[in-house]
Amino acid sequence: MNLKDTIRDVKDFPKKGIIFKDITTLLKDPKAISIAVEELYKLVKDKKITKVVGIESRGFILGAALALKLGVGFIPIRKPGKLPAERIAESYSLEYGTDSIEIHKDAIEQGDVVLLHDDLLATGGTMKAACNLVERLSGKVGQISFLIELSFLKGRENLNGYDVHSLIQYDSE
Ligand code: AMP
Repeated sequence: MNLKDTIRDVKDFPKKGIIFKDITTLLKDPKAISIAVEELYKLVKDKKITKVVGIESRGFILGAALALKLGVGFIPIRKPGKLPAERIAESYSLEYGTDSIEIHKDAIEQGDVVLLHDDLLATGGTMKAACNLVERLSGKVGQISFLIELSFLKGRENLNGYDVHSLIQYDSE
């Protein structure tokens, strides 16, 4: 089975000019979701991961599945105003303006080796900010994984020095 065949392109969502990679069509297919989790797990199983951190919101789905398979805890990184307890924030640039993400202060402990997971790598800005959050809490980024990588945007260059993996790559729009 080719996982790429289960991803749906939605033109002009959420705004004109964007081709949105819709993963709901992969998630609803029991074979595809099982292959995706298994393949992502194989890449990371020997990395001595102690926590999985997923990025809101699509990073929660396979991130939580990976945490269960690895037998470690799952930590959510969320958009501002969603986490109830003490938290730290990190801002990053968007095409127009900035955005920010947050993590609970007590989510990571010294010595934690973290798998950071999100559904898709575009420019890498979101993931770089997530790495900064983990490192500010004294965690080590053990691996970064994505289901999808838009390789033509060269987001990897933003994540130099990290162990970055993706299951599905697009070389052009
Ligand atoms: P970036 O920070 O530019 O790497 O953007 C990554 C974040 O934006 C991820 O959380 C993705 O879910 C979302 N994203 C960016 N571009 C797309 C796209 N073409 N299709 C689906 N999600 C996207």
